[in-house]
Amino acid sequence: MTDVPKQLRQVGGGAYAYVQHDGSWGWSNSGLIVDGGQALVVDTLFDLRLTRELLDAYGRVLPAGASITTLVNSHANGDHTFGNQLLPGVRIVATRATAEEMADVPPLLLAALMRQAPQMGPLGEFLERIFGPFEFDGIELSLPTETFDGELKLTVGAKQVRLVEVGPAHTRGDTIVVVPADRVVYTADILFAGSHPIMWEGPVENWVRALELVLELDVDTVVPGHGPVTDKRAVAAMRDYLTYLDREARARFDAGMSVMDAALDISLADFASWGEAERVVANVRTLYRGYSGAERATAPEVLAEMAEWDRRRQPAGR
Ligand SMILES: [Zn+2]
Repeated sequence: MTDVPKQLRQVGGGAYAYVQHDGSWGWSNSGLIVDGGQALVVDTLFDLRLTRELLDAYGRVLPAGASITTLVNSHANGDHTFGNQLLPGVRIVATRATAEEMADVPPLLLAALMRQAPQMGPLGEFLERIFGPFEFDGIELSLPTETFDGELKLTVGAKQVRLVEVGPAHTRGDTIVVVPADRVVYTADILFAGSHPIMWEGPVENWVRALELVLELDVDTVVPGHGPVTDKRAVAAMRDYLTYLDREARARFDAGMSVMDAALDISLADFASWGEAERVVANVRTLYRGYSGAERATAPEVLAEMAEWDRRRQPAGR
């Protein structure tokens, strides 16, 4: 397993961001909010080893006698939830839609997929590249103990924390976590800093609205779901990406182009520095579904399309 740089950074009076690597596939961020002997964690990580490292790092900054009392799962993806079992007895809060999606896509499915990867040809190679660094055996589905719809206000010590449901967008039930006293928002995967987002669910209008809501918040610091701690400029850039992609995809949909041809044709020159460009085909697929009402593709189908896009788009010999 690769050892990657991880950083625990204080982003407010009692607010921290744990940032892994460059935020590429599976390298997600987490947050810690502390006050008056209590602590709330925003998201666990993709596997048990990484989540143990995360909790060790949090243990080093928790004041003596303080303990983690609440875990918020921002959405259902494994890179934000698969470490949940390492916080036994802790209240786990998520939207109802997130809890349902977590139950639909259990860790066993990903573990099984990765065991088959060596026999899966180009898709298998892609899976090995993006998920190879993680260990999915031994992960037990650990679901939210408490769900909500819309908005939920919590307190950590005397500090107010707002959970705002902004999905469906990235997934079925995305939540952002706002800490007004620290002027911080944890956006989870509503924002990828420095890489293409992936729109598993859509619709794009919800995602754009979510980003506009973040832009209107009275905060200075934005902790994305992936990539470095940032500010509202990155939020505006992600909104511009989604509106650009929507416009470009719509024109190609109207012209009768296939999802793959459209995704290969759309210029990404303005986003050349962003990683995970293959996600454009998944995003175009979801946009097309919005235009046509077509059936949703399965996650393995979408992953196979990204593997193919990557192969066709990249110069030979990469
Ligand atoms: Zn993620």
